[in-house]
Amino acid sequence: MSLEADCIFCKIIGGSIPCHRIFEDDQVMAFLDVGPLARGHTLVIPKIHAVTLETLPPEYAAACLRIVPAVAHAVMTEVGDEAAGWNLLQNNGPVAGQAVGHVHFHIIPRKPNDGLGFRWLPGKLDQEEAQVLAENIKSWL
Ligand code: 5GP
Ligand code: ZN
Repeated sequence: MSLEADCIFCKIIGGSIPCHRIFEDDQVMAFLDVGPLARGHTLVIPKIHAVTLETLPPEYAAACLRIVPAVAHAVMTEVGDEAAGWNLLQNNGPVAGQAVGHVHFHIIPRKPNDGLGFRWLPGKLDQEEAQVLAENIKSWL
């Protein structure tokens, strides 16, 4: 497990910054977000330092997502009286809203008219461009 000395979440993993821990195994930790968008807002993080998801070793990505359903179920069982659904949010890069440079998955309980949400402004997929785009992206896999 490789951690970074100046990373807040690595410090939480290492125990030098406290947290309200919900789950931990050798690859993953889940704990309450200190600035919750809703009651029960929980973070799931890999116990290895990687800034964005595409640089995270796949086994750690898998370990995070393996535990998300159980943690979300537990959160929603606790706050289900006030929340009717939840978002899984994962920001990569400052332009996408990432403030902490260590991969994390947000589990955010939602209730009607809570004022949260994503400004969803759909465009229209151009079929010709899409064919080229899909082929190009495929070539990078
Ligand atoms: P981001 O914007 O990077 O996707 O989200 C970072 C999240 O980490 C924020 O929701 C913020 O409240 C949370 N956070 C930042 N520092 C700490 C901390 O020291 N402890 C905990 N529990 N959460 C933190
Ligand atoms: Zn880190």
